[in-house]
Amino acid sequence: MATYENMTNTKFDFIIIGAGASGLFTAAHATRAHKSVCVLDMGENPARRVAVSGGGKCNFTNMHADASHYFGQNPNFTRSALARFTPADMVNWVKSHKITVYEKTPGQFFADDAKHIINALLSDAYDAKIFQNTTVTAVEKTNESFIITTKDNQKFTSQKLIVATGGISYADLGISDIGYKIAKQFGHKIIPIRPGLCGIKTKIFDATLSGISIPAHITIGREKIFDDMLFTHFGLGGPAIYRATVRDCANGFTINLIPNIDAYDWLRWQKNKNGRKQLKTILATKLPNKLSEFLTKDTRNIADIRDSELRQLATRIQNIKLNADDFSLFGFAGAEVTRGGVDTSQISSKTMESKLCPGLYFIGECIDIAGDLGGYNLQWAWCSANAVDI
Ligand SMILES: Cc1cc2nc3c(=O)[nH]c(=O)nc-3n(C[C@H](O)[C@H](O)[C@H](O)COP(=O)(O)OP(=O)(O)OC[C@H]3O[C@@H](n4cnc5c(N)ncnc54)[C@H](O)[C@@H]3O)c2cc1C
Repeated sequence: MATYENMTNTKFDFIIIGAGASGLFTAAHATRAHKSVCVLDMGENPARRVAVSGGGKCNFTNMHADASHYFGQNPNFTRSALARFTPADMVNWVKSHKITVYEKTPGQFFADDAKHIINALLSDAYDAKIFQNTTVTAVEKTNESFIITTKDNQKFTSQKLIVATGGISYADLGISDIGYKIAKQFGHKIIPIRPGLCGIKTKIFDATLSGISIPAHITIGREKIFDDMLFTHFGLGGPAIYRATVRDCANGFTINLIPNIDAYDWLRWQKNKNGRKQLKTILATKLPNKLSEFLTKDTRNIADIRDSELRQLATRIQNIKLNADDFSLFGFAGAEVTRGGVDTSQISSKTMESKLCPGLYFIGECIDIAGDLGGYNLQWAWCSANAVDI
């Protein structure tokens, strides 16, 4: 890592704030083009989010990455960058560093160890001066330069400035809102931020169900998510809920606990075939015991239950409505991504340059773009970093 010596008198071609996924990737991109590059990062180590990503295995891309897997005011903003640095390009980049990759589900790529991805990023960005434990507190622009001030009052100067400061989730990994402050300072609008890819707090279910995981269907508007859902002591989590929270879920959503069948038809069929069995015994063939007991305390045989009651139960199982008042997002602390950020309408989707301040760029998660679970967020970090016109 670099030391401050002599650096404060140097004018770099590029200063990048943030040695995370996008910051390091663009540092590599710029040094390859023989530009002088300085990266300033507040944390002890670079790419700390990459280190914990994918449970330490880094789900670094997804072959299905297109605008439909991104959320924000204008998901189409991602099109150009994604087309110019595709998931296949990223897989090739990872393989070119002799890192073993594996495809967990079709299209979803992981490394054998996230550390190998970080080492590859650092090796590609070898010629950049990277300063860790260096928190940027202020930025000013003169006619010719950007002057960056750090917490310990060091000054760094560059011709161009790239803001790669990420979101504000997982505060333990080191976060700040400086990216949003810089954007505002230069006249950019910030789309209100909120946690995404996180659990929810709700009292609709009982805390005793905590630990149960089942496949579920979630419907948000016209979109359907099919994935595993986890009951937690505070509400709900698991991939299905994470994916719901990165979408526009403020108006609520509905949950179907027995996807792929019509529960009412199935219950009536059971009534004809297994009339002497108790309703809850029958339900327990499709759902964990505790959950079926939570859904019905009825001890009658199914033959003794009216169809109208079966219909009510089917609705309770397949059309659980969580309205806006029924839940809240768990919070930034456990969220994998930040929704909202720097408004895309004021950034060029081709180059990531500010339309308001020439020479200023925004990349990665600090922009109002958040991706779905499954490698989409890192793919956005890589391709937005690659888009910068070095
Ligand atoms: C637990 C977890 C698991 C994840 N797993 C995956 C996954 O498997 N696949 C996937 O696609 N996505 C995953 N993500 C999301 C992904 O890690 C992020 O979207 C991605 O890292 C964003 O890249 P970035 O470069 O924009 O920001 P970051 O990687 O967050 O980097 C931002 C950098 O800016 C620095 N910084 C901030 N403020 C300052 C300041 N004032 N001065 C100096 N430096 C500053 C920070 O220290 C940080 O190093 C995960 C996220 C989390 C939290």
